[in-house]
Amino acid sequence: MSALATEGLTRDFGGFRAVADVSLALAEGARHALIGPNGAGKTTLVNLLSGALRPSAGRVLLGGAEITALPQHARVKRGLARTFQVNQLFPDLTPEGAVGLAVLERQGLTGRWWRPAAAHAAEREEARALLAGLRFSAAEMRAPTRSLPYGRQRLLEIALALALRPRVLLLDEPAAGVPPGESRAVLEAVAALPRSVTVLLIEHDMDLVFRFAERITVLAQGAVLAEGPPAAIARDPAVRAVYLGG
Ligand code: ADP
Repeated sequence: MSALATEGLTRDFGGFRAVADVSLALAEGARHALIGPNGAGKTTLVNLLSGALRPSAGRVLLGGAEITALPQHARVKRGLARTFQVNQLFPDLTPEGAVGLAVLERQGLTGRWWRPAAAHAAEREEARALLAGLRFSAAEMRAPTRSLPYGRQRLLEIALALALRPRVLLLDEPAAGVPPGESRAVLEAVAALPRSVTVLLIEHDMDLVFRFAERITVLAQGAVLAEGPPAAIARDPAVRAVYLGG
């Protein structure tokens, strides 16, 4: 059974078909990338997966169960998480504090965050373990978020999503805006996550994609042009023609 799958997923905007009959299957624990030229339909497809948009036709399945009609928050509850650019939201919190709050959110206890600090020890401990898994040092976990390098801030967004214990994580350009020296570290930290998390990465930087992905789906004009392991994708003549410039 696939961790996440689509069947004939289609989305029209007026008379324009942005996503055309896309059938995808992400294996459990996969490190899967979605690529394609600008306008290929990647963002639209991710929005259909997360529930931000409704399809014109087709189905979305999470762990074999249909979620096509579910709103975003219900999909998150079932284990489908995506990242948002939140570094502006918590500039004064530390990563440990912010992830600790996300752990409370998962536990449905946010109404009680006035509890004395000592009562939050378990959440803090879980937050620290999660951040350590993403290669934050102890000092970085306790520094104000705004003082951290941008690559760390983007990893914090991923940590916040992971605090919800997702089965599938959708990453839409997690290294966007991150300096080249740091972007590789962002993707390496994601690749090293436990296999209990299936990851779908949307990324422009081909170097990062080919380092990260075990399978790649190539979209062009809304449709799947090719799907396979990186080596096969790199030498696929159709992919080279539309995407890699021949
Ligand atoms: P990508 O992320 O691969 O660059 P998008 O999913 O953003 O591609 O867009 C795919 C196509 O759908 C583009 O031609 C875009 O102009 C069109 N599109 C996306 N969203 C809308 C919308 N809300 N209304 C009309 N057209 C849209």
